[in-house]
Amino acid sequence: KGDSADYDEEVQSVCPFCGVGCQLSFKVKDGKIRYVDGVEGPANENRLCVKGRFGFDYVDHAHRLTKPLIRRDGAEKGLNVDPANPLSHFREATWEEALDAAAAGMKGRGREIAGFGSAKCSNEEAYLFQKLIRQGFGHNNVDHCTRLCHASSVAALLENVGSGAVTATFNEIENADVAIVIGANPIENHPVAATYFKQFAKRGGKLIVCDPRGVGLGKFASHRLQFKPGGDVSMLNAMMNVIVEEGLYDAEYIDRFTENWDEMKAHLADYTPEKMAPICGIAPDELRDAARTFANGKAGMIYWGMGISQHIHGTDNSRCLISLALMTGNVGKPGAGLHPLRGQNNVQGASDAGLIPMFLPDYQSVTDDGVRSAFTEVWGSEDFSNEKGLTVVEIMDAIHQGQIKGMYILGENPAMSDPDVDHARAALAKLDHLVVQDIFLTETANYADVILPASAWAEKTGTVTNTNRQVQMGRRAVAPPGEAREDWWIEVELAKRLGLGWTYTHPSEVFAEMKLNMPSLDNITWERLESEAVTYPSLSPQDPGQAIVFGDGFPRADKRARFTPAKIIEPDERPDAEYPFVLITGRQLEHWHTGSMTRRAKVLDAVEPEANCSMHPRTLRQMGIAPGDTIRLTTRRGSVRVMVRADRAIAEDNVFLPFAYVEAAANILTNAALDPYGKIPEFKYSAVRVETDGIA
Ligand code: SF4
Repeated sequence: KGDSADYDEEVQSVCPFCGVGCQLSFKVKDGKIRYVDGVEGPANENRLCVKGRFGFDYVDHAHRLTKPLIRRDGAEKGLNVDPANPLSHFREATWEEALDAAAAGMKGRGREIAGFGSAKCSNEEAYLFQKLIRQGFGHNNVDHCTRLCHASSVAALLENVGSGAVTATFNEIENADVAIVIGANPIENHPVAATYFKQFAKRGGKLIVCDPRGVGLGKFASHRLQFKPGGDVSMLNAMMNVIVEEGLYDAEYIDRFTENWDEMKAHLADYTPEKMAPICGIAPDELRDAARTFANGKAGMIYWGMGISQHIHGTDNSRCLISLALMTGNVGKPGAGLHPLRGQNNVQGASDAGLIPMFLPDYQSVTDDGVRSAFTEVWGSEDFSNEKGLTVVEIMDAIHQGQIKGMYILGENPAMSDPDVDHARAALAKLDHLVVQDIFLTETANYADVILPASAWAEKTGTVTNTNRQVQMGRRAVAPPGEAREDWWIEVELAKRLGLGWTYTHPSEVFAEMKLNMPSLDNITWERLESEAVTYPSLSPQDPGQAIVFGDGFPRADKRARFTPAKIIEPDERPDAEYPFVLITGRQLEHWHTGSMTRRAKVLDAVEPEANCSMHPRTLRQMGIAPGDTIRLTTRRGSVRVMVRADRAIAEDNVFLPFAYVEAAANILTNAALDPYGKIPEFKYSAVRVETDGIA
């Protein structure tokens, strides 16, 4: 960090990493970002974590793509084709040539083409991407990383509350006296949000931290429930059983604002703490104490992360959390609410903008004829399919089955992020036409036929929506390198070549179009966002937005939320003699998702330069493994070699493996089994074998 002499321009924008959406200021000199400082944004109040503060220099990395590229005739597809010269299988092209080639390989191919957009792009770019697929190819096979993140949470929220977004900002913990944080590791994954949680605990708030790992926030907790992986539904049902049995529920709230309570009560009768304790691994007394603490609070928040969502029972997990909040009257008042902590900086906004196969913008169903015609009227185009499209993992399966033959992938990296990633890589290799738009030669770009060099977040202007539903303005601080371009510009040029007649000349025009069919943006204009963040819904041009929603009922029939009982569903595979451990994958503080940005950020890479996994020290001792040794992890899908650390936070029969490292790609190991509602894979539970034999 320097002083004002070290820069000649300050540009206020938003952090490019997690969904907290911290506002920051890029300090720019001679066209380069010199350093970053936090500013007074609604979510961060000047705070930044290590990624936001030190993770900016990837934008200047020598690996940036600066020219459009076309695969050389006959060149092999895939990773490590020529590690010494990674661009050797491509040749440089002009923008005209590359865009023409990209469009020519897709035009007129309808259902043979699918698209993955990006939660790292702006709202306008996400909107344009889904429009391009729907208008250009007539179907809904368009998705993005929400499918790998909170799709099951959104499915449960839409089903039971009528809205897929949070009911209260995470900052509402300031008004709570009790909070549950479950299946989340905010100190590493949402670090600035975690500072509010820690302050809450220090003020005496009751913090109930539940996770199969002993996550760092547990140090601040009044209650720590380190349950067995996959034991969430049993644990939550047992807590709700206690609340019912002891009459701790809010009868007045239930009567006024909910439906299906009698069925829920009957369902819970069987889930006593004594019966559930062996399944979830938490003693009956602890379950009772946690249940009483939450139910007796005056106002309680519930936060959850991918430990809840990334299971084949992810939707059931979220249903339980929704029921817990409803039965205790903890929605729609200060200090109370449901808050799935969103992952990527714009996964909320990209989902709101319709970058999902079953919904148009604002979660309006593609199966509704009136909804589609409202959009096609604005778009001036033909009707498109009324069938829900395929999701991320389903698209990979459809490639293997020969139904999808080409893809347009913007800013996503399925060759690293998909479950059972060898299956996904084989699918990408099968495509006869793959267009990748990105800032680096990602693992996915290695399979591309055409690569379009795009802009980093600091190089573009556009709006972004954080986990709190706060819409904020991201501003261009520096120019993209070489011939790289802003993503919205590339999308427009491609659409022109597909014959879609797009004429946008600035993202503000796209935002204006979005507003025509997105009531969530009522009273929010581009001009307002130039000077302030606005939380949707905003009730008037002066209203900064509603931090808490549903105080007077829900956007469902009769304004009532629903209790949906959840039964216990076993994980898709269980440990056995051959694969005796449970593998849990996730993130680390310093690295972001597939590592394409943070592993190219000097400070972050210096702190965490090497692929690693963690196991309990006692387990390591029993196996004759020393911390720092290389071990082999093997599941039914594949094998990786990785350095192991000792960590008492990991249960003795578990292994934790971050997924940012291509040299030990965690998703070679993960299971592609899907939650039936959210279609999210079971990243958080695979049976795994740990070996040392034969490792040098
Ligand atoms: Fe960026 Fe998230 Fe860190 Fe804030 S908490 S600085 S948004 S990574």
